[in-house]
Amino acid sequence: MIGPRGFRITLTWKLFLSHFIVVMAAGVVLGAVAYLRIPTALQHHVARMQAIVGADQGLADDLRRSFIAAQGQILTVAGIAALLATVIVGTFVAWRVVGPIRKLTAASRQIAGGEYRELVSVTGNDELAELARSFNRMAAALDKTEQRRVELIGNLAHELKTPLTTIRSVMEGLIDGVLPAETETFLDVQRETLRLQRLTEELQELSAAEAGELPLRLEKMNPGLLVRRAVDRLEPQFHDKAVQLHVDLDDSLPSVSVDGERMLQVLINLLGNAVQYTESGGSVTVGCHPDGNGNVEFFVADSGIGLTSQEITRVFERFYRVEKSRARSRGGSGIGLTIAAHIVRAHGGTIHAESEGPGMGSRFFFILPTVINP
Ligand code: ADP
Repeated sequence: MIGPRGFRITLTWKLFLSHFIVVMAAGVVLGAVAYLRIPTALQHHVARMQAIVGADQGLADDLRRSFIAAQGQILTVAGIAALLATVIVGTFVAWRVVGPIRKLTAASRQIAGGEYRELVSVTGNDELAELARSFNRMAAALDKTEQRRVELIGNLAHELKTPLTTIRSVMEGLIDGVLPAETETFLDVQRETLRLQRLTEELQELSAAEAGELPLRLEKMNPGLLVRRAVDRLEPQFHDKAVQLHVDLDDSLPSVSVDGERMLQVLINLLGNAVQYTESGGSVTVGCHPDGNGNVEFFVADSGIGLTSQEITRVFERFYRVEKSRARSRGGSGIGLTIAAHIVRAHGGTIHAESEGPGMGSRFFFILPTVINP
């Protein structure tokens, strides 16, 4: 706040002045009461003493004057002492209150400059300490978001680099005449172009999902029907790879309110991964049943390569692939499960994975709430 003639009234000054005004007001009230009331009270007291000890009027007047003079002196000394105390206490309190606020201001400037690791030291348990704690929590959240942003750019660059490098070297080979201009060479370029196209489509979906902007056209659906549709779509892949596909459905399931196409996308992603990460001769079971809490649990269980406990916690992270080179060579970008998790959550559901460990197969589950008013 800027006061008259540009003088800046800082919080320190405001606190100091507020103490000063309170003490001055108390002093004025005390002085006024003493000035108005003490002479009358003294008069009454001296008259009683005169009656008891029989002192003469001159002595009584002298006593009254001396007492009032002493009262004036004491009040003056007390006023000066109170003023000094105000200066000391006011300065101390202002320093205690303004100090943490200054630290917060300095830290917030650092954050505005992109330095998210700036934390404020917290002592005590009062509102200012709570404010500093909230500030530190906010700084940590911003730091994490910034790390994710940097990571995202790095991942993206990496994902784009591999197919672009392949396309470039094939084209250079063709131009230099090192590679033959035959179908196989062009198919290589087409494969990488398709991968780039799929990646951009997935990224578009991911960004919409992360912004909470995936449009859902909800309809009441039988969960078993969803599973059967996904199975119909992926059966040829299972057949080609000689992986057995079992369907385990509970026919008396209540309806779920879902966007059919999106849910199909989730099931196809899980089934696609299951067949991808299961060797020939293995088996996959897909199905759904009541979860015991009035919801419907969908599951995809495979006898494939399995996951470690650390991998399980990370498979839903964007761009996460357990075996990066192998997953990429199979066309995976590590975004499918992230989008699947967003879709399930957008339906009010939950998703998780389980595995007994590497080589022991994996199970993916997602739970959807049932339609309350059928
Ligand atoms: P991708 O497109 O790479 O498959 P996902 O997001 O669908 O991406 O999966 C992320 C990673 O999780 C995969 O790269 C793989 O390492 C692991 N994963 C997913 N499903 C399975 C599974 N059924 N068995 C073993 N690992 C799996």
